[in-house]
Amino acid sequence: MDKLAIVVPCYNEEEVLKIASQALREVLEDLIHKEKIAEDSFILFVNDGSKDRTWELIEEEHRAYPTRICGVKLAGNVGHQFALTAGLLTAKDMSDVTVSIDADLQDDVAVIEEMIDKFHGGCDIVYGVRKERKTDTFFKRTTAQAFYKLMAAMGVKTVYNHADFRLMSKRAVEEFSKYKETNLFLRGMIPLIGYQTDNVYYDRKERVAGESKYPLKKMLALAFNGISSFSVKPISLILGVGVFIIFFSILAAIYALISYFTGHVVPGWTSLILSIWFLGGVQLLAIGLVGQYIGKIYIEVKGRPRYNIEKVLTDDDDNET
Ligand code: UDP
Ligand code: MG
Repeated sequence: MDKLAIVVPCYNEEEVLKIASQALREVLEDLIHKEKIAEDSFILFVNDGSKDRTWELIEEEHRAYPTRICGVKLAGNVGHQFALTAGLLTAKDMSDVTVSIDADLQDDVAVIEEMIDKFHGGCDIVYGVRKERKTDTFFKRTTAQAFYKLMAAMGVKTVYNHADFRLMSKRAVEEFSKYKETNLFLRGMIPLIGYQTDNVYYDRKERVAGESKYPLKKMLALAFNGISSFSVKPISLILGVGVFIIFFSILAAIYALISYFTGHVVPGWTSLILSIWFLGGVQLLAIGLVGQYIGKIYIEVKGRPRYNIEKVLTDDDDNET
């Protein structure tokens, strides 16, 4: 039987912690009862340097349910993506499969069972995907959708309307641990792992209590981080603009020369206008060119795995599992 770890990052979640713990414990007991997961499956709360009583509550829950509730205390606030990674990497060595979910129960805990079923059906990664965003404010909905579209335009592979509610098998988390980059954007990184994946769909609810820990500033930072960690397209855009302006300077030259010969210009204007357009283009082109190299250095420096071998067939692998 596979041991499940539910990983929950928590930042100032004292209002929801007990409710979340209760709801997730019920899910675990139900799945254990149905013999879908191992008896010793557990919930791992990651305290992301909360300033309120979150950690005390996690300790209390652990005392009340020592086998079910585990906790990780980060020494300071490092943000959702890092807290989640810390939780996943800790859980990896203690379990066979992980499910990550937010503490506020906006994601439907009922679909965890469906995720586990898909896992037993051979999937290594199962994404929780929101059906619609009725409960989000108009602002959050439109900005989020614009974000997914922009990511797609920049060539970053993400799962539409999927946040960080997902199942990952032990070997998927192990592969993920080989991504050593510090600019974490999990939604872009997980699809790079490969393996068989699937989606489960659910309606996203309102927070059970407390306030969103993702104000606009953090959302914009996440969006920019997502693009800049995965795409060097903005650099190519500069290069493109440079080429375009050099081409345009030819048109400007023709126009300036015609004006010059028809004699309607102040002395010096023609050479000035030509230099401005041409040099502007050359400068952008040069910056874009240098940028291409920087983009390559950036990709190299990340040291991401270049491939992930799932299976090898040879003639002496009879003892393969
Ligand atoms: N979170 C975290 N560290 C932070 C901010 C948020 O661990 O610095 C956690 C938070 O406790 C929650 C999850 O990340 O479990 C998602 O945050 P939230 O629900 O506030 O975001 P929203 O759903 O509003 O986008
Ligand atoms: Mg939330």
